[in-house]
Amino acid sequence: MPTSPVDPSLFPDRALDPALDPALDPEINPRTLTPDQWRSLLSAPEYAILRESATERPNTGRYLADPGPGSFHCAGCGHRLYGAEHKFHSGCGWPSFFQQVEYGALEVHRDVSHGMVRTEMRCARCGGHLGHIFQDAPQTPTGQRHCVNGYAVLHVPEGNSVAEVFRAHRNDKWA
Ligand SMILES: [Zn+2]
Repeated sequence: MPTSPVDPSLFPDRALDPALDPALDPEINPRTLTPDQWRSLLSAPEYAILRESATERPNTGRYLADPGPGSFHCAGCGHRLYGAEHKFHSGCGWPSFFQQVEYGALEVHRDVSHGMVRTEMRCARCGGHLGHIFQDAPQTPTGQRHCVNGYAVLHVPEGNSVAEVFRAHRNDKWA
């Protein structure tokens, strides 16, 4: 599936107001953010995937290589989704995980788009689109492959705070 074309002019220079950033402030309800507010926080590929359910092309996203110990957070709102220990190499072209970090980190929905019936995953906090779950990984403890768009998540290395990683990342719009 091709990634939706994104018009760079829609993305003003960063960033409006860090007080809007749900990754920095757990009190912010990310479901109240407008599309313009999301565009002020997210890079173009992050916005296309999280907010418009696009899919990055295989082998083009973040974290195909293992970034090391730590955790993976929703790139939209900072919600913790996976531990590095849940990542495995599936060879499918997207980062793959066999389980969420805790029950309720994800929301799952039936997705009938593109002529297929699939299980779609969304972030339980902000509702951002992450990818799909497939039952085709018998080599893992759960048999599941959570096929995640690399641009939908951000890796927080062990020993770093979520806020410091997001603060640095938000300043790089095309990362
Ligand atoms: Zn989120």
